Amino acid sequence: MESFLAVATFAFGLCWGSFLNVCIYRLPRGKSVVAPRSACPHCGDMIPLYHNLPVLSWLILRGKCRSCKQPISPRYLVIELLTGLLFLGCYSHFGLTLAALKCAVLGFLLLGLVFTDAETKLLPDAMTLPGLALGILFSLVVPVNDLASRIIPGMVSPAMRGEISWRWWSLSDSLLGAAVGASFLYGVAALYLRARGVEGMGFGDVKLMALIGAFLGTKLTVLTIFAASLTGSLFGLSTVLAVWIKRIRRIQARGTTSTDARRRAWHSARLALRYYEMPFGVFLGGMALLSFLFGNQVLHWYWRAL
Ligand SMILES: [Zn+2]
Repeated sequence: MESFLAVATFAFGLCWGSFLNVCIYRLPRGKSVVAPRSACPHCGDMIPLYHNLPVLSWLILRGKCRSCKQPISPRYLVIELLTGLLFLGCYSHFGLTLAALKCAVLGFLLLGLVFTDAETKLLPDAMTLPGLALGILFSLVVPVNDLASRIIPGMVSPAMRGEISWRWWSLSDSLLGAAVGASFLYGVAALYLRARGVEGMGFGDVKLMALIGAFLGTKLTVLTIFAASLTGSLFGLSTVLAVWIKRIRRIQARGTTSTDARRRAWHSARLALRYYEMPFGVFLGGMALLSFLFGNQVLHWYWRAL
């Protein structure tokens, strides 16, 4: 029974992954995800239902369109497998519970947003706003149990405390998390704009952070922002470093002295840093899912270490 459920959850995830691929392609282009049926973006050939099987179709067609033979992005396969694994992971972490459903919905939204951001640098409202609403609704059935749930009940009289449902505390935690996440990112975006004169983060990131806050509550939201900034900066620095090293090698190959090569390569690296656009949504999304699964353990460990 256990393994049957695991296989079923995985297969269920694969199907949702298939739908997520449609969302990633169509939502940033402002198209409907319901109609028309999927078609090849190169030749417009309609994809018949029997070729719409997750994973299998891609493998059978060897990643090419059946009529024009143009390659189909491996992203389709990757998203389906990741969504399958996500659903399986939620089931094994939480069992068949509402918490598992909440985790699967959050992961589904984040996967979609991370891949859309990486491909198009857009975080469509059609994903972030319904996601934010879902996060708030979920707080009414799965307790967020964060700061508001611990602090507010202590401030009301014991008689009233018994009459107020935990759902209200949980809802406050969700709203508080959304507000903290959104305003933090809004502040960072404003600072970034002022410091570099280019818009590094858009309102898409602010809405994404509101979504994450609504699902995670305040503490894990702050952890997410911290972890995403750290990994994002490391990624940015290593990109600039890679540009620098590559340029040094290329300039030296032309027989320039190494001091001169280093100086000119440094100039290129600084240009790269100037124009580098970090897909911050990718890091926020990834770290949010990790925080949801393991954040409380990390915080516990951190408090103990202090
Ligand atoms: Zn085609």
